[in-house]
Amino acid sequence: MTDSLLHKGQRKQLVELLQTKGIRNSAVLQAIEQVPRHVFFDKALQSHAYEDKAFPIDAGQTISQPYTVAFQTELLNITHNEKVLEIGTGSGYQAAILAKMGARVFSVERQKKLYFTTKTQLKKLHLHVETFLGDGFKGLPQFAPFDKILITAAAPFIPKVLLEQLVIGGIIVVPFGEGNSQTMLSIKKISETEFEKKEHGTFSFVPMLKGISE
Ligand code: SAH
Repeated sequence: MTDSLLHKGQRKQLVELLQTKGIRNSAVLQAIEQVPRHVFFDKALQSHAYEDKAFPIDAGQTISQPYTVAFQTELLNITHNEKVLEIGTGSGYQAAILAKMGARVFSVERQKKLYFTTKTQLKKLHLHVETFLGDGFKGLPQFAPFDKILITAAAPFIPKVLLEQLVIGGIIVVPFGEGNSQTMLSIKKISETEFEKKEHGTFSFVPMLKGISE
């Protein structure tokens, strides 16, 4: 992996841009400044890696816009050593940001091709991320409970099993809804039966789909 002075400079500028857009959490901004986003891109698109835009990756999926990654991560309020489940590994960039912040990340992807390429990529960065090929609608019961859960695809409903796999006091962040845009929700688990839900504006994600895809 090459991480040049130019890349580092571009990341500093990206962090400044995210601050002007309202991202305040210094741990989130620091992780964005440290994690090379260009290594998660196809060679042909690498020069665009530090634009605040989503880009296509394999299997018709996307790497989320840096602002969206920062926004979702800020809502999760990550502290060191927390166990975090991510649904939708995709490029692996979001997982890398969480791991850089000291989280122990468990990330699930349903697209076989992405699962294999991203696993290799994340290994090279030596970050604490365990990747799984699976259906995020089921979560990862064998590793539950999680302190935080992050869904990075548009969820048509909030899977009950995911709420069950959250600790009391835990938070799930999820873009909720079908169609072109979703409402960003953060849901805090107050007790086994009580949840506190907050809305945080409109975003656009690829859909969360059932099953594993070849
Ligand atoms: N976090 C990613 C964003 C990828 S886009 C990144 O930083 O690049 C969303 C991803 O969710 C896609 O890769 C898609 O294949 C995956 N996905 C959709 N439904 C899923 C499901 N049920 N289980 C696991 N992954 C899913």
